[in-house]
Amino acid sequence: MENKIKKIALGTSNPHKLEEIKEIIKNSDIEFVLPPAGFDPLENGTTFEENSYIKAAEASRVSGLWGLADDTGLCVEALNGAPGLYSARYAPTPQERIEKLLFELKNVPKERRNAKFVCTMVLTNPEGKKIHAQTGEIRGFITEKPSGIHGFGYDPVFFIPSLGKTMAELSLEEKNTLSHRALALLPMMEFINKL
Ligand code: IMP
Repeated sequence: MENKIKKIALGTSNPHKLEEIKEIIKNSDIEFVLPPAGFDPLENGTTFEENSYIKAAEASRVSGLWGLADDTGLCVEALNGAPGLYSARYAPTPQERIEKLLFELKNVPKERRNAKFVCTMVLTNPEGKKIHAQTGEIRGFITEKPSGIHGFGYDPVFFIPSLGKTMAELSLEEKNTLSHRALALLPMMEFINKL
């Protein structure tokens, strides 16, 4: 069956996310395009879905196309869900964000270091209206030191017990079969393909 939607503008300029998204959707016959330079929506929502909607709607506004965006956060139980919505602003650089997280958890024993990655994807139509939202989650715990060279962001300190590895010890292909982003994007693509 041929898709009604031919082209979607992605509401992200994060190169790591783009690489993952492209790999997950590589078999789709929809063309995915990047937002123009200077795409910088104000992420002032109070939930992942609101922020994701802000980015998707901005992608639609600047391109006149369907828009798709994700908003992601790391929620740590012992920190009452922090850094959560503020994961990108927790500290200035990815390295400092990891250091701050490990510092905050320095006296927390392994059995209380549970965490989850949450990713919410939103699809907007060319008028910028929200058509669908889809959330994916993966549970694990925060290690005491970083390990692994793949992925990005908090991946080196996010341990997946069923695999015995951190997210950064997985190849891109492996991460893309089980990650929060894949668990949001795969059902989102099923939804899009039925439109
Ligand atoms: P945002 O969704 O671009 O706002 O990202 C929020 C924060 O979570 C940033 O610090 C990202 O580096 C981090 N992040 C987003 N996705 C992932 C992921 O798949 N693994 C690890 N960290 C991530």
